[in-house]
Amino acid sequence: MLFKDVLVPQELKSRLLQQIREGRISHAQLFHCLPGSHGFGLAVAMAQYLCCEHPSEDDSCGECPSCKQFAKLEHPDLHLYFPNCGTKEVESKNCESSQFIKEFRDYALANNLHIDLSEWMAILDGENKQPSINIRDASNILHFNSIRPYAGRYKTYILWCADRLHHDAAPKLLKTLEEPEEGSLFILITDKPERMLATILSRTQEVKFPRLSNEAIEQALLQEHPDLSPEMAHNITLHADHNYLKARRSYPNDELSEQMLDSFSQFMQSVVAFATRQPLETVNYNHVQMLIADIAALSREIQKQHLLFWLDTSRKFLLMKANQDAIVKLTTQEQEVYEKLKNAFTLRFVSQLNDAMNTALQQVARNGSTALILTDLYFQLAAFLTPKQ
Ligand SMILES: [Zn+2]
Repeated sequence: MLFKDVLVPQELKSRLLQQIREGRISHAQLFHCLPGSHGFGLAVAMAQYLCCEHPSEDDSCGECPSCKQFAKLEHPDLHLYFPNCGTKEVESKNCESSQFIKEFRDYALANNLHIDLSEWMAILDGENKQPSINIRDASNILHFNSIRPYAGRYKTYILWCADRLHHDAAPKLLKTLEEPEEGSLFILITDKPERMLATILSRTQEVKFPRLSNEAIEQALLQEHPDLSPEMAHNITLHADHNYLKARRSYPNDELSEQMLDSFSQFMQSVVAFATRQPLETVNYNHVQMLIADIAALSREIQKQHLLFWLDTSRKFLLMKANQDAIVKLTTQEQEVYEKLKNAFTLRFVSQLNDAMNTALQQVARNGSTALILTDLYFQLAAFLTPKQ
């Protein structure tokens, strides 16, 4: 992992690099992350830089044999520890990080080392729901720490989710953390330091992660999903609480996008029919009520995604009407919905709709009754479109 690819504020990278250049590296560091931080990526970038054969002022070379091994998380001086537990394949009494290293590497590499405990637990599929970094892991750390680094440089021990260090395992590490062998670096990563033993905390130097800016999250989303519209990336980011993983999870997949476009189309067509006093069978209000009930039955996160998607689609339609079709790319399905709704989507209406939907989104986010909020939205939108007497 190169520093340039780690999604943390630049000030944090610069601070660590400066410590390395000045030879002031603390041998036991506590990466105090925020939820969704790229802490594991930063820890690997630091370990890689320390072992790189041709580092520049501010990054590893990415080309030397050592960097190539780091790119696969297979460098012999990189030791990874992470929560684990008994599974169908591995008996509880035998479990330790090394038993799951292949799965862990695959998961981390597939996600640019931007990883999350709940996702990892789903992959682990453990019978016991409390995975930990256990006493066997601690014994392995002591063993590796007693032998020299393979390449004669640094040996790095990364303990990801260090708050999951088992209470039997933690005391074994105290002496090592206090007086590490020459050339050893311990990086303990957590977003819950309050769950860690004071004796461990006091032996580490805290590296506090600053909040990631919305601009950085937006850029990263657009880079990861080139087909995402800048408006959608902006909207997703606004609701992600500076947490990139949360933003990434809000990115709708194809099947969900299809459902959301479908619900948008039916909801809006009924609003327009109601506002323009068309026959009851065209309005089909019962159908809209069923659609609202279906959305209300989804998880709160997916409900929010629905409203974000509706907002984004409305904006796209407005841009189409303003003859800015050069910058808007509609899919075939979106084009079909657009043809049905384009007459209603005036500049004035979209601006009113934008305000009403943003309010609805906030109410849904605050755990309001989604069925009531969407019903209210329906009549508000219809009122905007009803011709004045
Ligand atoms: Zn290198």
